[in-house]
Amino acid sequence: MLGIHRWRSIRWKFIFIYFLLVFIAMVIAGVFILQQLESYHLNTVREDLIDFQNSIASVFEEYDDFTGYEDEIQSNIETHLKGVQQEIFIIDNHFNIIASNNENLLNRNASDILDVDLLRDGFIGEMSEKDIMKEGQIPTKNMAFPIIKSDMVKGMIYLRADLTDIYEALDESKLIFLRAIVLALFVTIILGFLIARSITVPINDVTEKAENMAKGDFSQEVNVKSDDEIGRLAEMFNYLRGKLDHTLSEISNEKSKLETILKYMADGLIAVDTNGSIIHANPAAKQMFFITENEINNKPYDEIIGKYSEKLLLSEIQNKSKNWEGEINFEYQNSTFLARYAPFKEENGDHIGSVMIIQDITERQKIENMQREFVANVSHELKTPLTSIKSYTETLLEGALYDMEVAKQFLSVVESEADRMSRLVKDLLQLSRLENKREKWNKAESNLIEVLKGAVIKMQINAKGKQQYLNCLFKNEEIKVFIDKDSIEQVILNILSNAIKYTHESGRIDIDAIKTEYEARIIIKDNGIGIPEEDLPRLFERFYRVDKARSRALGGTGLGLSIAKQIMKEHGGDVEIHSKEGKGTTVNIVFPLTRND
Ligand code: ADP
Repeated sequence: MLGIHRWRSIRWKFIFIYFLLVFIAMVIAGVFILQQLESYHLNTVREDLIDFQNSIASVFEEYDDFTGYEDEIQSNIETHLKGVQQEIFIIDNHFNIIASNNENLLNRNASDILDVDLLRDGFIGEMSEKDIMKEGQIPTKNMAFPIIKSDMVKGMIYLRADLTDIYEALDESKLIFLRAIVLALFVTIILGFLIARSITVPINDVTEKAENMAKGDFSQEVNVKSDDEIGRLAEMFNYLRGKLDHTLSEISNEKSKLETILKYMADGLIAVDTNGSIIHANPAAKQMFFITENEINNKPYDEIIGKYSEKLLLSEIQNKSKNWEGEINFEYQNSTFLARYAPFKEENGDHIGSVMIIQDITERQKIENMQREFVANVSHELKTPLTSIKSYTETLLEGALYDMEVAKQFLSVVESEADRMSRLVKDLLQLSRLENKREKWNKAESNLIEVLKGAVIKMQINAKGKQQYLNCLFKNEEIKVFIDKDSIEQVILNILSNAIKYTHESGRIDIDAIKTEYEARIIIKDNGIGIPEEDLPRLFERFYRVDKARSRALGGTGLGLSIAKQIMKEHGGDVEIHSKEGKGTTVNIVFPLTRND
């Protein structure tokens, strides 16, 4: 009965109320009808008695006095009124019953037998009546009519009717009513039961379905078709169920969306409640702090996270900002992290915990540092030639201009410094174009040997200037590669010029080109000064030079290898450097043979 006590259910309340209503109605109707019946019957008897009195009264009005006529009157009554149901008593003014159709009571004193009140009323000339119903006696209706002659009461007609039949009939009627009440109540109970059922069954259905819904089953549909209040209740229930189902599925969609975001976001996310327990940690956070699910369930936040940095302890965070909002930078195992935290609140605004997003900003910081370094480098690289140009022009202006020889010498220095600046700016612009992917490529299938030969010829003069020998070893006439000829030539020129620059006079530079199944290689090998091992990994950084002064003196910008590397990467290839300090350097320029555009 769904937790409701049997007798408190609507069904029983219904039956009880029906029962009570029918019972009260029946009792009221019964009492009313019985009373009406009784008064009707008594009235009939009364009217019969009055009619009867009227029919016989004239007989007694003939006598002036009853004395002496008693027997005559009695015999008259006997002959005419034998068999009449009502009892008739003729009483003289001495209270004697002088005649009656009940012979047993003849000549008796009326006040002993009949009702004294009626007798008294009769003798003062008033007609009166009385119903006498005494325990153990026959119920009777009594009526006394005075017999008046010349304004004198000379006697009285006293009529008495037996009411037994009437009261027996009334008793019978009462019984019939009682039976009717019982039957009606029985029918009421059955009908009440059926009517209550028609209400309680759908209500129970709705309640049962609501209970199932509370347990999480939303497939419930109430099946009530009536178009009354209960039908409407069922309809609203179904509507509510649909709405709830829809809302819950929306919430669960949102939840799964959020879970997916949390799962795949690169930043770590940790949610902590006000008790200091971790409520949630996404996979990235678990990976960053090496946290296991078991730890989350068993250890407080401070114990798990506090060991990475004291700044992350909840007490520290709270000290730092009262409203639980802010940022913390911390270092752990050569990595830099940035933790941002914010409170999360209940609907009523109560603070129930904090969410922390942790980012590994090592790379970002590295890039920022590189950018700073780059700006410093560029400024420095530009400052040197500018200082030198300025000091030479000043000297010229101060008078050196008039010494032709000195002036020429100074101006050539100014020119070479200006050249260096323009080279630097040109290289920087190219590097920036390469890095921002703005370089326009004119790639086509070309013969690498041809490009290489061209570059060698261009560098021949420089080599000759240092009595170096450019030893071309390659025999192939053709290696087909898909390249932008100009930029590849620039790569070869950069590498070759390095080989020439960093190889002493009369040195030797071997140049070869080979082709394997997957790649083509240009190998430029010198027997120059070589590169210390610790500098090798940084050679391709912008402005990185093993010996700054030497590089500068040789007109280098420190950008040649960076540019060469970028160009080769754009071609899907690479630049590799092997070197031994004091022995020489070998540079490999690698080209893929599969087309890469
Ligand atoms: P630079 O303009 O200074 O030559 P690069 O980027 O071309 O700049 O080269 C970077 C540095 O690498 C040079 O300063 C030099 O110290 C070193 N280097 C490059 N090639 C050679 C080589 N063949 N032999 C020795 N050192 C080299």
